[in-house]
Amino acid sequence: MGLRLRIIINPSSGRETALQDLDSVLMHLSGSGNLTRSDICYTSGRYDAMNFAINTRAEEYDAIVAMGGDGTVNEVVTGMMRGGVKLPLAIFTSGTVNDFATINNLPQSASDFARMLANPSYVTVDCGRANNDYFLNVVAAGLLTDVAYKANSDVKTLIGPAAYWISALRDLPSINRTFKVKITANGMVYNEDIIMFLISNTKSVGGFRSLMTNADITDGVLDMLAIKKMDPIEIVPLLGSLMVGDHINNDNVIYLQSDDISIESDEHVVLDIDGEEGSSLPAHISCIKHAIKLIVPNKEEPL
Ligand SMILES: [Mg+2]
Repeated sequence: MGLRLRIIINPSSGRETALQDLDSVLMHLSGSGNLTRSDICYTSGRYDAMNFAINTRAEEYDAIVAMGGDGTVNEVVTGMMRGGVKLPLAIFTSGTVNDFATINNLPQSASDFARMLANPSYVTVDCGRANNDYFLNVVAAGLLTDVAYKANSDVKTLIGPAAYWISALRDLPSINRTFKVKITANGMVYNEDIIMFLISNTKSVGGFRSLMTNADITDGVLDMLAIKKMDPIEIVPLLGSLMVGDHINNDNVIYLQSDDISIESDEHVVLDIDGEEGSSLPAHISCIKHAIKLIVPNKEEPL
């Protein structure tokens, strides 16, 4: 019997090729006799993907397929978590830079994606929770995330989040905007003036493949990186450390792992959740171990 798929797609995502990719995936699957049913849910606004995911009747499908950018994928995961939908999830993010796809070697072409669906392997990955929101990749606040909001969305689609980071890092020497936080994790309290923080499920953030050096999406903990307020003269050595990957030992960096992190601030600080604007501090951030059964390429029969 072929697959029964619930496909949630943002038709305007990526380089506007999502619909062509979808046609191609379906053609490959039905051509190889691997498709029984495909219910296609087209999103047209915020929360559509989440609601489609919440309203999925798990017994009618073999998998949910999320096709779109970070925002679509985040909404599908959020809907699955809120709705208690226990189905394997396949993620297709063609045309966008996606850290989660990179880390998991997820296919970027329609034919490879169809082959993965027809012959899947599974990894049960952790999911992060920030107040009432969920995330697969990262929660962040501070300098670098502001850049993401301000960037033109067409540019965002074309060049991906790495571009924001590079442009933000370039501006780092001129920054003096910091915020005071109280971070509580693992029984420790950190009161610091910081430039930014990231709490990540994945090793790769913003296209930097090993920014979160020790992160593992299956270990039940999230990795946190915070950059402290510092003298401008210390910024260049920190950038050097970031490039070679020994930044977690830098005195201006807090790096920790925990399944439960609280962050408070007296200032108004908005969270960026998987690239979308989320709630503000205070935040309670936790790791839900092995929450999502992710479909990944089969290692025995590589793409
Ligand atoms: Mg982890």
